[in-house]
Amino acid sequence: GMKQRLLVVANRLPVSANRRGEDQWSLEISAGGLVSALLGVKDVDAKWIGWAGVNVPDEVGQRALTRALAEKRCIPVFLDEEIVHQYYNGYCNNILWPLFHYLGLPQEDRLATTRNFESQFNAYKRANQMFADVVYQHYQEGDVIWCHDYHLMFLPKCLKDHDINMKVGWFLHTPFPSSEIYRTLPSRSELLRSVLCADLVGFHTYDYARHFVSACTRILGLEGTPEGVEDQGRLTRVAAFPIGIDSERFKRALELPAVKRHISELTQRFAGRKVMLGVDRLDMIKGIPQKILAFEKFLEENHEWNDKVVLLQIAVPTRTDVPEYQKLTSQVHEIVGRINGRFGTLTAVPIHHLDRSLDFHALCALYAVTDVALVTSLRDGMNLVSYEYVACQGSKKGVLILSEFAGAAQSLGAGAILVNPWNITEVADSIKHALTMSSDEREKRHRHNYAHVTTHTAQDWAETFVCELNETVAEAQLRI
Ligand code: UDP
Repeated sequence: GMKQRLLVVANRLPVSANRRGEDQWSLEISAGGLVSALLGVKDVDAKWIGWAGVNVPDEVGQRALTRALAEKRCIPVFLDEEIVHQYYNGYCNNILWPLFHYLGLPQEDRLATTRNFESQFNAYKRANQMFADVVYQHYQEGDVIWCHDYHLMFLPKCLKDHDINMKVGWFLHTPFPSSEIYRTLPSRSELLRSVLCADLVGFHTYDYARHFVSACTRILGLEGTPEGVEDQGRLTRVAAFPIGIDSERFKRALELPAVKRHISELTQRFAGRKVMLGVDRLDMIKGIPQKILAFEKFLEENHEWNDKVVLLQIAVPTRTDVPEYQKLTSQVHEIVGRINGRFGTLTAVPIHHLDRSLDFHALCALYAVTDVALVTSLRDGMNLVSYEYVACQGSKKGVLILSEFAGAAQSLGAGAILVNPWNITEVADSIKHALTMSSDEREKRHRHNYAHVTTHTAQDWAETFVCELNETVAEAQLRI
């Protein structure tokens, strides 16, 4: 029969678009796990709706980009620079992102944010309405509409106001904070009410789902049930859907000659030393300074390890135009410099810090050769790096040290060493534990994690969500 159509709506399309002429565009599709998961859901015909990340003010350019994107199953939403500034940089990244990750703002930023709140929230609603307008244009009866992330919390309401019969799901990729934090948001009620217009609301972990339900009961006075949130007999289903990765893609990569070459180069370069790995965007939530301070403490207390261990930290730049992030970069550089000066020798330094991204093959090689991965996020929706590390450790069976504040701690807790990243004594001790662990214990821990990562894939995640959304809508119709 006819395949069901899935419209995936996210702030960013999974492409980078570069203009090559008045009506010429070159497109590069990002090949991440999320893309293949969403485009690969069984028996579903998926299309992607979102912003292409470029400002296209002229109609000729817009038409050409729309045509080029159509071949990649993508539909663009055109946002002008002012909207992007207020909605994306402002409301999404300066207000929702820090709040959802329990980050405080410096005092003067906090006041500026308070002052600009209303105009940024209005821009946020306007932007969400622009996404909704594009959805209306492409919607056909029976389609499933899956809205993604904190950028689009106002979208479920826009969609249901337009057509109450649309099947609407919303999934949050970040943590949802405790209601005690969430309730400081001036637009708290309006956003909750909008999200509740969805038929199904999903989070990475049970804790985030519970926080959301508490926010609805405490702030809106609604009733929370084991199924979700009820408002005058109408149920919004709320549940946890932990995301996964495309583990096969990583296992396949390890078989490629280019990756094998990388692996043997790295093995030679670090022969005689244990290698620890950190891979993070350079963001406040990742706890990079805390991680490096814990490594310093380990070196301080374990002199015999000084030239026998190295930490490779990949810090992928993000939001480099924002002063807070520039400050974090120089703070990290300063700590790394101090530690390398203190513990380095003429021929070796304890920390290799890279301010850039790696290509997929180089990343896979690093995941495969390193003895320990160190994930110290202060808050993290899930953290896929920890999953990817496990997927690549089939032969080496390295140790994962994982923050209890990453969503992944809920699923990889049995195999990883869980730590509180704020307690650098505890992290230093777990570094020692990881480096000296017996191979029996390493294998046992790895087996747990590997079983989880290879059986809870990104594709399973997407299929489960879409299936649950269809069922939720079917059940609601039976109740009427
Ligand atoms: N990553 C990448 N290039 C790099 C380093 C990392 O593409 O040089 C990818 C990595 O493979 C992972 C993602 O970036 O899929 C990071 O996801 P995660 O959930 O760990 O953190 P986020 O950056 O989404 O907060």
